Amino acid sequence: MLGKMIVFSAPSGAGKTSIVKALLEKFKWLEFSVSATSRASRPGETNGIDYFFIEKEEFVSRIERGDFLEWEEVYKDNFYGTLLSEVERMWQKGHLVVFDVDVAGGINIKKKFSSAVLSVFVMPPSLEILEERLRGRNTETDDSLRKRIMKASKELEYAKDFDHIVVNDQLHEAIEEAAKLVQAFAGKP
Ligand code: ADP
Ligand code: 5GP
Repeated sequence: MLGKMIVFSAPSGAGKTSIVKALLEKFKWLEFSVSATSRASRPGETNGIDYFFIEKEEFVSRIERGDFLEWEEVYKDNFYGTLLSEVERMWQKGHLVVFDVDVAGGINIKKKFSSAVLSVFVMPPSLEILEERLRGRNTETDDSLRKRIMKASKELEYAKDFDHIVVNDQLHEAIEEAAKLVQAFAGKP
């Protein structure tokens, strides 16, 4: 049986990881869906916690086997996706599943599972601030930064396709707003 799902999408750097982390601490009935990816792990990332790191060839063969609830080639040759087995394990515990996926992935999940999904778009206050935050995170090369900013300006056009938009200006306010949306959808006090 299909359980409830909550999707947070945003251009990279808008703050969705920060918001999702805070919600997971606040609500014990939420569980994070660890995605699989074919990109290399960054320093400090742990397999099975940040992502399941899978070689590209294996990723593609698992797509063909139907192992993914959804997947996207988010950047060229970098695949990302949600393993069905992970999500089913969480629903069996009565938990709601939270996804942190790119904008195309968020729209796909909403389309595919409609009312079982709450979709939230995390909006940066501006593209300039987004770039500042990405630089401040110190995770990108000049090339990947440029790619992410170019992609971001397109992604902002899809905000209207989400159930809700949360502007992440002051992080604590964005967390509070997101928490209210999640609680209402989950039907939990
Ligand atoms: P995403 O998951 O969307 O890529 P992150 O949560 O990693 O984004 O945030 C990108 C960077 O911006 C991080 O260094 C984070 O600490 C910082 N950040 C997030 N929200 C805010 C905010 N409201 N104000 C200032 N910095 C923020
Ligand atoms: P990063 O390389 O910065 O960790 O992530 C790059 C992008 O891939 C982000 O926008 C992130 O939300 C997205 N992403 C992570 N996991 C998934 C997933 O399971 N499916 C999809 N479609 N996108 C994902």
